[in-house]
Amino acid sequence: MGLQQSEVPVRENRLKSIIYYSGNAAALTDPQKADSFVHKERSYSQCSDCAQMCAGTITYFVRNAAVVVHSPMGCFANTPVNDTQFRNASLERGQDPDRVHVLCSNISENDTVYGGIRKLQKAVQECYDRFRPEAIFVHSSCAAGIVGDDIEDTAADMEKKLGVPVVPVYCEGFKSKIWSSGFDAAYHGILRKIVKPAEHRQKDLVNIFNFLGSDTFTPLLGKIGLRPNYLVPLASVETISHMSEAACSSQICETLGTYVTKELEDNYGVPKVKTPAPFGIEWTDNWLREIAGYTGKENIVEEVIRTEHERIRPQLEELRTVLKGKKVYIFAGDSYAHNVGSIVRDLGMELVGMTTLHHDMHSDSSETGKDTLAELVKLYGDIEHYTVCNKQPYQVKKIIEELRPDVMIVRHMNMTILGGKLGIPSLLEGETNISAGYDGVITTGKRIRNLMETRGILKTLKEYNQFPYSKWWTDQEDPFYFEKK
Ligand code: SF4
Repeated sequence: MGLQQSEVPVRENRLKSIIYYSGNAAALTDPQKADSFVHKERSYSQCSDCAQMCAGTITYFVRNAAVVVHSPMGCFANTPVNDTQFRNASLERGQDPDRVHVLCSNISENDTVYGGIRKLQKAVQECYDRFRPEAIFVHSSCAAGIVGDDIEDTAADMEKKLGVPVVPVYCEGFKSKIWSSGFDAAYHGILRKIVKPAEHRQKDLVNIFNFLGSDTFTPLLGKIGLRPNYLVPLASVETISHMSEAACSSQICETLGTYVTKELEDNYGVPKVKTPAPFGIEWTDNWLREIAGYTGKENIVEEVIRTEHERIRPQLEELRTVLKGKKVYIFAGDSYAHNVGSIVRDLGMELVGMTTLHHDMHSDSSETGKDTLAELVKLYGDIEHYTVCNKQPYQVKKIIEELRPDVMIVRHMNMTILGGKLGIPSLLEGETNISAGYDGVITTGKRIRNLMETRGILKTLKEYNQFPYSKWWTDQEDPFYFEKK
């Protein structure tokens, strides 16, 4: 593997990722057993998603850039983006609003016989003429991949003609059951075509790979005299091109940033922060300490940590009194669920279960001991009911009914709806940055406390709700019935 390759291998092959599992958490953290878990196919799927969506969450929000989705219009309908989102996210970050610049090449049936390259060339040209971007991303799709359209050469030709980077992103949905492979595909294109070697190091700059989200890392890193470099959404092409100048790289979630931070380290010498992202008190302490080591701030970091603990202590104790022993269930993408688990532990809540959308059995980092599930098990203890499930509401409903949590914390909107139908208050972790750092623990605690007040209305909602499942499925006890058969 390397940046000279046009594509990065998908996660099933690179990280031995799995899409279903039911057991305890500790069993998944044993590197010796990693190869024994090969759950990459399902005998029945209720729904699925596409790597292109994950690639889009990275590329659609790059300032001064544009995207051509080389696909039929149906794939383009999956485009999870609009101008309002871009504008609101920019304002929240304290930046000027921008607009989304995305076109679809509109591959038709005819093109799947004769090839769609001419349409791609036309779309890239149209994209340049309309938006005058500083870079153009070209997303591939199942149709383009199966037909074998030569996106690589077309992008290279158009790049020469237009004088701006034209970046292939190989995110065909059929290639991977792990949608997060789309993150890696987008980063791979960025690293190959946009990032430049560092002219000088910016010793106080820390790369933070994140999604759209508010500016909570400036106050956190500012305490030790450092600045965040938010990447990639909402950053400009120019900013992205200089990510190699940072003192080190971290992310809000290992699942999001595992590949790009590792490649930045290997190819540009930017150290990857190996400790888990700064969610929960102990992980924030460790994160600050490691970053202090890369930036020469060791002399002040311990005092900052001590002061921060003192600062949040009164509010934390108050929240613990209210939330202690409350049963919580977490559903999120792989590593972000572990981040939330770290916060929940600080709030004194009981983690009755956790489900992640997939699980990477290996990390891109060579330091296997630093995988976030292993770190969570070390911090919290084993999680008896740990499941991996790539959405599949028919299964998740059963998991939740068995665990009967007081509250759910979920990363995706559709899960809050499921929680509501089951009468369970559900906290949406849609904006991840607000949960980071010491203040993130307090913010999350307050949000959960307020959420518990909605139990009454949800109880009513549950009484009036009907699920579409047959009696046969309702009577089955095992959520993973189909896989075990
Ligand atoms: S690229 Fe493939 S999986 Fe993705 S939306 Fe299009 S057809 Fe579906």
